[in-house]
Amino acid sequence: MKYGEFGGQYVPQELKEKLNIIKNEFKNAIKDKKFIDEYKYYLKQYVGRPSPLYYACNLTKYIGGAKIYLKREDLNHTGAHKINNAIGQALLAKRIGMTHVIAETGAGQHGVATATVCALLGLKCTVFMGEVDVKRQHVNVEKMEMLGATVVSVKRGNGTLKEAVDEAFEYFLDHKDVFYLIGSAVGPEPYPEMVKFFQRVIGDEARKQILKQEGKLPSAIVASVGGGSNSIGLFTAFLKDKLDIYGVEGAGLGISTGKHASAISNNKIGVLHGMKTYIMQDDNGNIKDAYSISAGLDYPGIGPEHAYLNKIGRVKYDSITDKDAISAFKLLTRLEGIIPALESSHAIAYAIKIAKKYNKSDSIIVNLSGRGDKDLNTILNLKKD
Ligand SMILES: *Cc1c(COP(=O)(O)O)cnc(C)c1O
Repeated sequence: MKYGEFGGQYVPQELKEKLNIIKNEFKNAIKDKKFIDEYKYYLKQYVGRPSPLYYACNLTKYIGGAKIYLKREDLNHTGAHKINNAIGQALLAKRIGMTHVIAETGAGQHGVATATVCALLGLKCTVFMGEVDVKRQHVNVEKMEMLGATVVSVKRGNGTLKEAVDEAFEYFLDHKDVFYLIGSAVGPEPYPEMVKFFQRVIGDEARKQILKQEGKLPSAIVASVGGGSNSIGLFTAFLKDKLDIYGVEGAGLGISTGKHASAISNNKIGVLHGMKTYIMQDDNGNIKDAYSISAGLDYPGIGPEHAYLNKIGRVKYDSITDKDAISAFKLLTRLEGIIPALESSHAIAYAIKIAKKYNKSDSIIVNLSGRGDKDLNTILNLKKD
């Protein structure tokens, strides 16, 4: 398997055949200059890349440690990193001749990104979203529908991201002409590899930018981890370098309360959504519900490459509570005039925690994976409680 004991393709035989068509076409596509040029064209002219690497001077002064740099994925069209991958996979779907794209979404960000690229490329779009998330992220639902997508509210189980993925997989299996555009570095082969390929632009850019701006590599890089796409996108370019890499999961109300979204802290391996990886589960192997204030981190698993990077000790995975993420959200907003997504706020909170362990001449790159507009209601509702 690709990632040590992790990953694989734990799906029914019929689905394997479909996945292998996608896998082969993906391998051909990334060797095809025309495909890559088209992907790069959209990243530049449609998404607005390269995204800046911003030195957060005020935050750095306030914390008093290493220089904190923000990779501004929040400035991308549709407000997060998800569009990088959505464009890549939608172009692949078109290449294969699949005209109906489906997607799952938690925060709504991946749904909006998918609905957007489907509008752009003239593809039919259906988005599966948990009932609870439909309520939490209502503006994104309105947006997807305006963009021409059909949003299916998934009522089973917890009504969040996990159930939306379950439903999307069933639909994918049942419909031959449908392409499943997965939004994170999860799922059966070849998805984790494809998502990494389409997101690694984040780290490739950031590495060049920091070398230009600082004249040397950072001492640490930090990203939030839901399924693990913005993080693997940042990490990939730096894995062979000598620096500290941190992946930050949602600790929710605290790991000890059981109400969290940290699959790695559990240290239990299992199979979910076609892959073998760390999964939140009870002693009987039942999947436990994930919880985080941030809908994008609310997933009981983690991408298989992260499981591997954890096992070999190359990346340190840790977690940040809702409370600390909210503090970081407020601090960045006030000090820098940048309203971060709650997911990204977890990474910022972690950088704040570790900045003092490094020298002032060191730098830390934090992936600001998205903007916080979608989270304003969540923050406003806190005040009412
Ligand atoms: C979806 C999302 C995440 C979490 O997903 P990953 O696949 O782990 O990156 C993080 N930040 C934002 C802004 C998101 O929309």
